[in-house]
Amino acid sequence: MPEKPSQPNIPAYLPMLIGGARRDAASGKRFAVENPANGETLCEVAEGDAADIDAAVAAASAAAPAWAATPPLQRAEILNRAAAILAERMPEFVAVEVAQTGRPVREMRAQLARTPEWYSYFAAVSRTHESGVHPFGGPYLNYTRRMPLGVVGLVTPWNHPLLILTKKLAPALAAGNAVVIKPSEVAPITPLMIAEVLAEAGLPDGVCNVVTGFGPTAGAALCAHEGIDKLDLTGGTETGRRVAALAGERLTHFSGELGGKASVVVFDDVLDTEAAAATLFASFIAAGQTCVQGARLLVQNSVRDRVLEMLIERTRALQIGDPTDPTTQIGPMVSEKQLNIAMKYVEIGKQEGATLAVGGNRLTGGDYDKGYYHEPTVFSDVTNDMRIAQEEIFGPVVCVLGFDTEEEAIALANGTDFGLAASVWTRDISRGHRVAQSIDAGIVWVNDHHRIDPASPWGGFKDSGIGKENGIVCYEGYTKLQSIVVKLSDEPFDWFEDSSDKRYS
Ligand code: NDP
Repeated sequence: MPEKPSQPNIPAYLPMLIGGARRDAASGKRFAVENPANGETLCEVAEGDAADIDAAVAAASAAAPAWAATPPLQRAEILNRAAAILAERMPEFVAVEVAQTGRPVREMRAQLARTPEWYSYFAAVSRTHESGVHPFGGPYLNYTRRMPLGVVGLVTPWNHPLLILTKKLAPALAAGNAVVIKPSEVAPITPLMIAEVLAEAGLPDGVCNVVTGFGPTAGAALCAHEGIDKLDLTGGTETGRRVAALAGERLTHFSGELGGKASVVVFDDVLDTEAAAATLFASFIAAGQTCVQGARLLVQNSVRDRVLEMLIERTRALQIGDPTDPTTQIGPMVSEKQLNIAMKYVEIGKQEGATLAVGGNRLTGGDYDKGYYHEPTVFSDVTNDMRIAQEEIFGPVVCVLGFDTEEEAIALANGTDFGLAASVWTRDISRGHRVAQSIDAGIVWVNDHHRIDPASPWGGFKDSGIGKENGIVCYEGYTKLQSIVVKLSDEPFDWFEDSSDKRYS
């Protein structure tokens, strides 16, 4: 039996990190970070706002040129050291992540174990990335070089606080940028800790700054700041629109990993047991609080009742409770706000006429009263126009919809404004590829769900975002491309003296 995580050793107060120094908010304000499993305060953090963002951007701007000029080999050595330190401190990171998000320790152990890979992968990319030599008519050499953008603002959510930040931080630093991080107000502790790890690994002061605070104050100030060369946000679609508009005003690069409502398409050639396991995992990992949650379970009508029955049975058996217990399968939701959203959508589903197949209630009594626990919930008899089928709930509430034909399945999978992810379950290899290629989503898994790798591009279509995380395409998104054209001939050129037919373009 795996052990419980050690109690996180979190100081009562955590200041911000600006220019390599621990800093209180200029206003002196602080706010509390809560453990959603029991409502207790884990610690206080500084409540940064526009003045602190100014200081952080100034520190990053001062540090950026030297970091940009640091050879890729040295940048890579620092990132590789950070990967090693993070791996060594993993139990501490897991314990804190469990405490601030309420996600079960088994999940966080599995998820965080891979985070060091992002630092080592992007360290390798920075050492090996090559630019091109391009065909150019006439006696010219045209080559391109990638340069860092400068100062990048990273705005991150609470659901995977370390992983999502890491997906941005590792490539941004590897490409030679300085960063200012505004983590979620709900889960700012591991973002502060990873900045410490990077400092210990030798990252120069000012290259990585963290301003804790709220979205409408610290977040908005960062996104409107003139000193920022790129904004990279993971968050809800509405936040994405606001931040993209601010980026547009200043013609700043923008990348947004936004909301989702992933479909899980199950054909009738899949074993019922496999279909039940697949839909259960896609629905309720992280208590449904993931952007790729399989919130829309599209099951072929010939097997729908059987799969639904097994899904209900397995949902009832899930062990919900203390996230530090290694046998717990579902923890609390991250906050009272998220719990209320889940409860609101359960009411909406009922009013819309969907059938509440299992779950539907806040869990109460005993220790449940102290935290924000909600039963894993499945609605059946759902139609695609219902709000529960269309709007992102971001909690343990999913819907089952039926289809008869492959064409219907594709139309349903595409019948949403979101386009982050989907999965297709079938034993028919041609159908697997065919359907995957017909779904308008940035990531489609075949016979699996929610797989990720630092080398594998990740990002949504439609209302789910702009840009990509992971892979070389992401590294390149943290650079600007300069094209250099060199004349190789010594032939004189004087357009206004010489009236012959010459080329000037
Ligand atoms: P939010 O959009 O509420 O917040 C994301 C971040 O933006 C937080 O740091 C938040 O600050 C900040 N923020 C809020 N308002 C503003 C503003 N006006 N200007 C600048 N920054 C602002 O998302 P959640 O934290 O609730 O995260 C859940 C959302 O993230 C879901 O929609 C989910 O789908 C999406 N997501 C997408 C992923 C993907 O890969 N596509 C992955 C994971 C999540 P504050 O600290 O105050 O909240």
